[in-house]
Amino acid sequence: MSQTLIIGAGITGAALAYQLHRRGQTVSIVSTHAEGGLASAASFGWLNASYFLSRPHFHLRHQGLAAHRRLTAQLAGLPTSWPGCVWYEATGDALAETAADLRELGYTVETLSKARIAARLPALGPVPETALHFPEEGVADPATLARALIAASGATVIRATVQALTSDRGRATGVLTDLGPLTADRVILASGTGTPALLQPFGFALPMLKRPGLMLKTNALPPICPVVLATPDQEVRQDAEGHLHAPASAGHQRDHAESLGAFPVVLNATLQRLRALFPGQQIHFGRQAMALRPVPGDGLPVVGQGPVPGLWLAVMHSGATLAPVVAELLVDEIVGGDESPLLADFRPARFQ
Ligand SMILES: Cc1cc2nc3c(=O)[nH]c(=O)nc-3n(C[C@H](O)[C@H](O)[C@H](O)COP(=O)(O)OP(=O)(O)OC[C@H]3O[C@@H](n4cnc5c(N)ncnc54)[C@H](O)[C@@H]3O)c2cc1C
Repeated sequence: MSQTLIIGAGITGAALAYQLHRRGQTVSIVSTHAEGGLASAASFGWLNASYFLSRPHFHLRHQGLAAHRRLTAQLAGLPTSWPGCVWYEATGDALAETAADLRELGYTVETLSKARIAARLPALGPVPETALHFPEEGVADPATLARALIAASGATVIRATVQALTSDRGRATGVLTDLGPLTADRVILASGTGTPALLQPFGFALPMLKRPGLMLKTNALPPICPVVLATPDQEVRQDAEGHLHAPASAGHQRDHAESLGAFPVVLNATLQRLRALFPGQQIHFGRQAMALRPVPGDGLPVVGQGPVPGLWLAVMHSGATLAPVVAELLVDEIVGGDESPLLADFRPARFQ
């Protein structure tokens, strides 16, 4: 039986381990960080296809939502819920164009009047004239989901840092870690921002954008935000314990900032925006999480065969949304040789 080594214990590595296990494969995971990963542990966790960069990107993200639903049907107790999203990041003609574009792609979009928004979000202070409702969208904390998928996969997790990939006669043979060498029949890099350094010795320069992200979690509050709420200057969701989760940047998925401001200033500004959204609520700082988002140079996922046989890549932003479908498709390809057209636009070879 083939032995697969996955580098990375975030949502991508975890989803791959689970799908390989379903195909009867033996899996080990090597990771610097504990089960739950790095970017995965700082993520907003909004599962959506309303944000996309191209039609193929939309279709992959849309299938990502379906793959999440398959996971919840297979495994009890996953931290995935489907509250839908109320969205008015754009207004006026831009909002209408967004609705038309998404409907044309086959996405479910409802237009909400001011009265319907107020009825759905009674705690909202400033209520816009109109908003879009994306009922297909959901939420999952990727770190919690990763831990559940790794447990279900039965994978062995080794806490170590991979210093280099090893190869023999042009084929991947394993890795060299700070704890020693590990051999495998195939290696999958689900190592997020750590991936370019591992590929460099093969002459493969994987470009990555520098996109730091800062998340704020508040104190527990009464139920005030039953959906993912996306306003022009703030996205926010509320978890089952009542904490609000809020990215410190507006429209965080298309955020282009290469650096964050001083944390106290940025976090305080985020708190002020939340208090303006939900007036009268006692909203206070709970904790913060920061990570670099693993965004490849063109913003799109990098999935497929690496620079040598036996080496595979799965690196992506919006991994909370995409990891389950990417894992299904990549494992079909690795184990069964079935190349999905859904991945055609996201191949590593575009950077070679
Ligand atoms: C602030 C923020 C908000 C986000 N919001 C959303 C959102 O709303 N919706 C969405 O879909 N996506 C969102 N994302 C993106 C999403 O969270 C990431 O795309 C996803 O978590 C990436 O998962 P991953 O497993 O690929 O990487 P990571 O979680 O970063 O895991 C990488 C793993 O690789 C390991 N690793 C790296 N190099 C090595 C090495 N040399 N040796 C050993 N181990 C190594 C690390 O230890 C880690 O375990 C957000 C990200 C951030 C930071």
